[in-house]
Amino acid sequence: MYSEIINELNEQKVQLVAVSKTKPILAIQEIYSKGQRVFGENRAQEMAEKYKALPKDIQWHFIGHLQRNKIKYIAPFVELIHSIDEIKLLDEVQKQAAANDRIIQCLIQIKIGEESTKTGLNKDNYQDFFQHFENNNYPNIQLIGIMGMASFTSDKKQIRTEFKSLKMLFDQIQSQFFPKDDQFKEISMGMSGDYTIAIEEGSTMVRIGSLIFGARNYG
Ligand SMILES: *Cc1c(COP(=O)(O)O)cnc(C)c1O
Repeated sequence: MYSEIINELNEQKVQLVAVSKTKPILAIQEIYSKGQRVFGENRAQEMAEKYKALPKDIQWHFIGHLQRNKIKYIAPFVELIHSIDEIKLLDEVQKQAAANDRIIQCLIQIKIGEESTKTGLNKDNYQDFFQHFENNNYPNIQLIGIMGMASFTSDKKQIRTEFKSLKMLFDQIQSQFFPKDDQFKEISMGMSGDYTIAIEEGSTMVRIGSLIFGARNYG
């Protein structure tokens, strides 16, 4: 399955984040041996353990909710954090990135689906967030785009509508806050069940787990 997916994504020039959360080292090594170098995890300590055990040319992406007190575990090596959704988190990433003398790339996660339980950025408050970023000093953070998850539904029309709205938000943010920054170009959207729609709607980066590694027991 991996080979078919990666060929399809290469053709479309879309980046693959192979989501290896809950999966053992051996399973990651198998996909690594096929050439994959970008892996995604959603627990800081699990990611740090896998980082230690696996080849150092892997780029580790953090996806999912990140607790502030866990950033220290991943700051020495994490390549991209997909899930920044509040200023306090941004402040702590800045602090830990500086302590490690690194620049950490980040995506801002914006709610597009019906995730009513989750806090974070939405269509009404994202402006304040980017305004704050622009007005303050984050020398160790590079914002390179946004991330979003569609609702967990089988309604393909709804999923498409949500991805469309994320793409529109990206265009808006890009022109308003990053007009001269050619690094601000990533839209992380699409998972095993909806990545084809996401790519049609402008995704540059998909996060695929179960389709590559098989179903998870938890996580
Ligand atoms: C688990 C997870 C994925 C991958 O999900 P699959 O359905 O297994 O492809 C993608 N994004 C996030 C944020 C996740 O937590």
